[in-house]
Amino acid sequence: MKYVLQPTAITTLAVTGTDERFPVNRIFCVGRNYAAHAREMGKDPDRDPPFFFMKPANAAVDASVAVAVPYPSQTKNFHHEIELVVAIESGGRNIPADSALSHVFGYAVGLDMTRRDLQLEARDKGRPWEFGKSFALSAPIGSISRASHVGHLNMGSIAVTVNGQSRQSSDVSKLIWSVAESIAYLSQYEALEPGDLIMTGTPEGVNSVVPGDVMRGSIDGLASITVSVKD
Ligand code: MN
Repeated sequence: MKYVLQPTAITTLAVTGTDERFPVNRIFCVGRNYAAHAREMGKDPDRDPPFFFMKPANAAVDASVAVAVPYPSQTKNFHHEIELVVAIESGGRNIPADSALSHVFGYAVGLDMTRRDLQLEARDKGRPWEFGKSFALSAPIGSISRASHVGHLNMGSIAVTVNGQSRQSSDVSKLIWSVAESIAYLSQYEALEPGDLIMTGTPEGVNSVVPGDVMRGSIDGLASITVSVKD
């Protein structure tokens, strides 16, 4: 195969306990999957089925070691959203919830970094969220732990601190739509593919960061992440 230009390198993430890398295909993100966060965004958490938005593969940033992400352009309100990330090993469409977890390669801690001002402006005008959500380097993600090593995560603390101060603190058991249900629902609309990631939504407490801030994200049983913001 000869290309007319050099293909852009694929984005990869670290896998705990190996030098082998996880190649990122697409990133699907669940909106409002914790009731208390839906309420803080001014929405009724019980009314809607899950909805999804996407980030490009180049949103993913390897945060298996401490990493810095740039403060993005065109925002004055850059928010952290701590999330459980699901890494898909095998694809499929119309996946039943009761077998959905067999498609999971593993889990990681991630941040859905958001230009909140642009997202809310788009939301309120009925426009797409891309400028708010789907920019490069907007998804720092830690080392992926294999499900065969750590099991499937349906409970456990999920938290992020900024400069040592607690910002978000909840429990994965509070997901409105579980990992299995999210896979099942999403696969009715789009065939999942190996390398896809699902960011499962964030609990309450989202807030802004500025250059110099250091975020530390953690989920019980997974490798923590340390992500700073730079100019
Ligand atoms: Mn999110």
